[in-house]
Amino acid sequence: MEDLEKWVAAGDIAREVLGKALDLVREGVRLLQLAEELESYIRRMGAQPAFPVNISVNEVAAHYSPSVNDEAVIPPGAVVKVDVGVHVDGYIADTALTIALSPRHAALVDAAQHALREALSALKAGARLSEIGSAVERAVKARGFKPISNLSGHSMSRYVLHSGKSVPNVHTGARERVRVGEVYAVEPFVTEGAGYVVETDYGAIYRVLSVRSTGIRELDSLLRDLWRKYRGLPFSERWVYREMGEEGLKGLRRLVSIRRVYLYPVLVEAGRGAVAQFEDTVVVTRRGIVNTTRVLELCRR
Ligand code: MN
Ligand code: MN
Repeated sequence: MEDLEKWVAAGDIAREVLGKALDLVREGVRLLQLAEELESYIRRMGAQPAFPVNISVNEVAAHYSPSVNDEAVIPPGAVVKVDVGVHVDGYIADTALTIALSPRHAALVDAAQHALREALSALKAGARLSEIGSAVERAVKARGFKPISNLSGHSMSRYVLHSGKSVPNVHTGARERVRVGEVYAVEPFVTEGAGYVVETDYGAIYRVLSVRSTGIRELDSLLRDLWRKYRGLPFSERWVYREMGEEGLKGLRRLVSIRRVYLYPVLVEAGRGAVAQFEDTVVVTRRGIVNTTRVLELCRR
């Protein structure tokens, strides 16, 4: 696979960033400061964020990235998920870890690590994607927790974060198989709650859906600008605000209302149970699986 080294390069940087997150996450730290520090670290290493750094606390499962004036801080005893996306020339690494600030959540975090380990050993060319879901479900339930059934891993391709195939976290019976040449983000989510997530009515992560003309010159120009910078990858309202100020945010909201831009709703656990997540990016080659992020090695440090 000729582009393997680019997927690997993105993975190396993403792992460095998560290593930094391990040092920085502690009680009282502002989520805004943490996200900005990690994103600027990505840029300093010569890569770009493939999406805004997600920092999801306790029962928040995914898609929380600090907004422009976010005041939130890491609360005492929190379970903190840091999910990082890095791209080098469109080649993406998507990786996440969970830090428990209280020993009360150690078993939950351990179950999520175990689930990722089992998912990775089930993932090979020719395997059914559903078998990976079964492996995750079995691993998690054996530890007395629940997998989150409506969150899944995903295939990726250059500049595309979700390129069509899902890696379930429960048994689904789906017949699709893993193929040589594919790239997957594998991400079991584990909870002590109800086992599924629901949408909230807030969010700060966006993605261009269509560049079809809006009929309004200023909006078309903003839309083209966003497409040129991010293509179909998710971006933060913070990045728009930094470059275009309040006007940019206003335009962004109008583009959401006419469905040229998608706003990702923050996802919370339906039973308000704490959630843990670990995620790796793997490339399926003829010679086997190449794990570009190896997040579990980082956690053994
Ligand atoms: Mn992720
Ligand atoms: Mn992912």
